[in-house]
Amino acid sequence: MDKFKKQRKRMIETQLKTRDIHDARVLKAMETVPRQLFIDEGLADQAYNDNPLPIDAHQTISQPYIVALMTQSLELKSTDRVLEIGTGSGYQTAILASLAFRVFSVERVAKLATKARNILDALNFYNVAIRVGDGSYGWREEAPFDEIIITAAVPNIPKNLEAQLAPGGRLVAPVGNREIQTLYKITRSLEDPKIITKEDLGGCRFVSLIGESGWKD
Ligand code: SAH
Repeated sequence: MDKFKKQRKRMIETQLKTRDIHDARVLKAMETVPRQLFIDEGLADQAYNDNPLPIDAHQTISQPYIVALMTQSLELKSTDRVLEIGTGSGYQTAILASLAFRVFSVERVAKLATKARNILDALNFYNVAIRVGDGSYGWREEAPFDEIIITAAVPNIPKNLEAQLAPGGRLVAPVGNREIQTLYKITRSLEDPKIITKEDLGGCRFVSLIGESGWKD
């Protein structure tokens, strides 16, 4: 077994299963996607550590547990269409693409989008579309989405994104100030799409969303 495969198995046992990540499909995806390919070669040995890591443009690749927690709470089905705001390294994108039908991902920094595109192509994730721009506006032409994930901190759930959530759909986002946030899951009722419920998934720390629904650079 290669070294990284071993490290992935250990990550599953020590970082995920111990913290209530129990969805078999999510665990399988986390066991399969080679996280070390989404970061600088020099950091590869830290790829499966229990923390975020720096990527280009002063951004970060999220901690594996946070990726797993957000993914599990989205309850993805293989027929679902997902919107992601903040492609970053593309690692979370790959996890989503392993579990859903199609992923639409928006990234503000062109250089990150290009890097993510290349690695996702190399790994044959052909069900991912990436667009460069301010994700505050979502992806209107492709809306509504069964799931929406925002992987940058926002002061509030952006109304534009909430509006692109399908009846019965789920949205996960870190909501708070630029230093510290709470991870919220909101669900749009299938029976009455006007009804939105909100669940607190715990504290977290993300880099800021820069744009209309976030902060100025
Ligand atoms: N899921 C990514 C997280 C990257 S950090 C990963 O694990 O690699 C958050 C990302 O959101 C950064 O790449 C940042 O450039 C991007 N971002 C910030 N503001 C944005 C905006 N308004 N629209 C789209 N992406 C944005």
